[in-house]
Amino acid sequence: MPGVPTTAKPPLLVYGPRSATYDFGPAHPLTPRRFGTGISLLETLGAVPYLAPEPATDAELEWIHEPAYIAAVKAFSRQPLGSSRAGIGPGDTPAFAGMHEASAAVAGGSLRAMEAILRGDVLHAFHPGGGLHHAMPARASGFCVYDDPALAIARARLDGLRVMYIDLDVHHGDGVQAIHWADPGVLTVSIHESGFSLFPGTGFADEIGGPGAEGTKVNIALDPGTGEIGWVEALEIALPPLAAAFRPEVVVSQHGADAHAFDPLAHLLVTTTAMGRLARLVDGLAHQHASGRWLATGGGGYDVYRVVPRVWAHVWLAQSHMTPIGELSPAWCDRWAADAERYGQAPIPTSLDDPANAGLPYSRSQAHADERAVVIAEDVLGRALPLLAARDAR
Ligand SMILES: [Zn+2]
Repeated sequence: MPGVPTTAKPPLLVYGPRSATYDFGPAHPLTPRRFGTGISLLETLGAVPYLAPEPATDAELEWIHEPAYIAAVKAFSRQPLGSSRAGIGPGDTPAFAGMHEASAAVAGGSLRAMEAILRGDVLHAFHPGGGLHHAMPARASGFCVYDDPALAIARARLDGLRVMYIDLDVHHGDGVQAIHWADPGVLTVSIHESGFSLFPGTGFADEIGGPGAEGTKVNIALDPGTGEIGWVEALEIALPPLAAAFRPEVVVSQHGADAHAFDPLAHLLVTTTAMGRLARLVDGLAHQHASGRWLATGGGGYDVYRVVPRVWAHVWLAQSHMTPIGELSPAWCDRWAADAERYGQAPIPTSLDDPANAGLPYSRSQAHADERAVVIAEDVLGRALPLLAARDAR
């Protein structure tokens, strides 16, 4: 890619012993088993974790969370039994012993990675355990306790930098949007399955930002059944003009793997091939507009053998400015084959990219959804660009 330095330092990989302590128990879909498959695949590509997440301080968490909420998380952390409150309890986000420390460490991982980028130690950082984008100022939601992308963004805002946040998870990035709703210095762009059919039920085109920040919150809500063609086109239509209009000084991205066709919890039909293409698009935008400053996080993703590791590999390769590999390490595939079978996620694909449409038949309804994605992206772009231009003119 023109203008991309090829001799830059490797991206900072954020992972450590605390990463796997963020664990809601063996029956929960957001399983720390994803680190076994995911980090070991990154290691076959030469990645070495250099930053082990440690808890953010209370004062740091209070940039984006209510003190009373942090106190509630700590109470559950010491004593997980008790009636539900603050979004914590039986269901999506159950209490577990040590949940404050584990959650604060996820937040701390993204925060320290952002600080390394702001100091100029690295251009790019990748925190696969981050991306907990549903957490709200005063409540947990959707497997998310503390909102690490929102915290990293808040840190960049302390330095006065404009931040573009790109959320590729299949679910709307509602927590990040809510926390930075009224800040015109934070452009959030979330593409997701429509809230009509999927949690959290928000993320519609008319959510454009609070007073004084209109146009800086952008939502591309896709119909269920949209595939890689519509997903990629929508993002290629929307992201470059939005970045050009907003001129970010830092880019933060969330690479939830749950838009994939194999994901059990949602209804888009995206491929790893498409997710890799988007990771490289984000890299290009970071270099073009933000001097390369780019923090990537993981996110959702519930097929932890066939999908999540390959999506993380694509993000890592994009951050390393390396050409995507073809075949995965056979030793890696062998290592996880039995595990994948046990969890009903076999066979593990042997190549990084998927066949077209993930090998599924291309239906008429999918073709319709793909065409609709283009219309939806053009509509939200048509709303946002004049608002961003008007802001500039003031
Ligand atoms: Zn780059």
